[in-house]
Amino acid sequence: MCGIIGYVGTENASRRLIEGLKILEYRGYDSSGICLLSRGEISIIRAVGRVENLENKVTDKDESFCGIGHTRWATHGSVSEENAHPHRVGRVTLVHNGIIENYLELRTRLEGEGYSFKSQTDTEVACALFDKYYVENVHPCVAIYRAVREIRGSYAFGIMFDGYEGRIFGLRHRSPLLVGLGSDGLYLSSDITALLPFTKTYSLIEEAEVVELREKEAIFYTHDGICDPVWQEATLNYDQAQKGGFSHFMLKEINEQSESVRKTIIPRISGGLPDFSHDGISRDIFQGIKQIHIVGCGSAYNVGCMGARLIEEYSRISASAFVASEYRYSPPANMQSTLVIAISQSGETADTLASVRYAKLCGCRVVSIINARETSLARESDKVIYTYAGPEIAVATTKGFATQLSILYLLSVYLGIFTSKLDTEVAKLKVDELDSSVRLIEGRLKDLGQIEELASLIYRKESCFFIGRSLDYFMCQEGALKLKEISYIHAQAYQAGELKHGTISLIEEGTPVISLMGEVRLLDKTLSNVKETKSRGAFTISLVPKNEKSPQECGDFVITLMGNSLIEYLFDELLCLQMLAYKVALLRGCDIDKPRNLAKSVTVE
Ligand code: GLU
Repeated sequence: MCGIIGYVGTENASRRLIEGLKILEYRGYDSSGICLLSRGEISIIRAVGRVENLENKVTDKDESFCGIGHTRWATHGSVSEENAHPHRVGRVTLVHNGIIENYLELRTRLEGEGYSFKSQTDTEVACALFDKYYVENVHPCVAIYRAVREIRGSYAFGIMFDGYEGRIFGLRHRSPLLVGLGSDGLYLSSDITALLPFTKTYSLIEEAEVVELREKEAIFYTHDGICDPVWQEATLNYDQAQKGGFSHFMLKEINEQSESVRKTIIPRISGGLPDFSHDGISRDIFQGIKQIHIVGCGSAYNVGCMGARLIEEYSRISASAFVASEYRYSPPANMQSTLVIAISQSGETADTLASVRYAKLCGCRVVSIINARETSLARESDKVIYTYAGPEIAVATTKGFATQLSILYLLSVYLGIFTSKLDTEVAKLKVDELDSSVRLIEGRLKDLGQIEELASLIYRKESCFFIGRSLDYFMCQEGALKLKEISYIHAQAYQAGELKHGTISLIEEGTPVISLMGEVRLLDKTLSNVKETKSRGAFTISLVPKNEKSPQECGDFVITLMGNSLIEYLFDELLCLQMLAYKVALLRGCDIDKPRNLAKSVTVE
């Protein structure tokens, strides 16, 4: 997703920027652009599609020694040249990674103060805000500090100010940005990979720091004055760098989840409530709907089960999930007044496409939840809700699932308001709880000691059971699938109450049974089932919200779930199960990103 590169030095800037942007291509993007300072003049060149399209527009007359470049993954505004970065307002030109959450409010205010906008982006609004504070006798750094006090969201900026020719300013908040020190000048980048052809020496930019890059030096400002950069040597090779320094794409993608979920939900929340006008979806599409069918394969089916449960719970509209490869062969008897929600990360999953075609033949309306752009599923659906997970390279989905879950959750709250089964205040609280889940993902990723210990205890086992009730059960399905996919341990999810009706016969001395208890209202019942397996020799592992029970009561190995609400517990369960599968697969020496027999996008039925 999106990338920044900047250069000021003694050599040709456009060539360096294009080379950097080409390296950033692996992150996925939809358009790109550069801004060059040539003979005191700013020129902006932008193009939709491949960086090659941009390169073809850059000519020799664009000879320059200073510039900034960007690959954009659109979040606000369509994919177009006008929306591509850099943006320029007044005397400020910039590139931006991230999202300005309060951009609408800022835009209205700035319009009232005389600013007009050429694009639909949140980025141009930030640019105007920097310009507003960049008045006579004010240093850019002061203007930056004044402007960011008013910005809510996540960002990394590369900025050029008229009057400070040959300098680039950078700052960041919850989005990476670093400075590279080369023999021919200074570099700015959101990704260490893009620096590697030029230099291995870099310094991270900390939160609340502003950097000023000049031809031969980098000045790091803080609120209190100037501080020294901490130069380090990159030890990455190109392949590792593509993985952002993580040993596997899967681990990188697990770590990207909070950013992906944040990017996905922000455009769909307005006034604290779900709002899908960003996707061209209004209440009309749900008028007259009597039931909802959700179709998907693999993890998309698992998340679909969660979505159906949430929709029924909050809106009381009847909703069911179907495995897409079965939908048209065992079709439900009644397809009237049905809305079909199709879920596919790639948008090319053949079985899901076939289900959609069947649903359309039956006269159903179809809304799809897709991550990739320009796909067959998008073309064949009435409406599309895109997740902003960015490219998912590892075969086993992680951030794809998390973003799908966040959309389904918002949709269920939206439908709850639509059917008047949820009161607005309760709905707002539920949206707030989703927002807190994002922060919680970050918290869990810093606290993985127990997961590592657990992985070392179970990685030699041949099979593993996951039990839970209601939403926890569906999360068990996902946890079991993750473990099977990448570690090749046989894993099975069971409704906690169903285990004793047959499968409990498989429990032997030491068989791991992982139980999820985020559904607090059902905790005592699930706990009884845990005890049934314990009596038969199982090694019991329980994920339990804090303060619900004393750990000794819950199992042999207890992980305390972070958060205070159901959706927070579910996200924490997801993180724990993804990381457990990852760590187990690592200990077993498996090919984590490319598990045997599997493909990322399953385009055959
Ligand atoms: N929110 C900005 C946009 O839509 C930046 C997106 C990005 O990070 O590329 O233009």
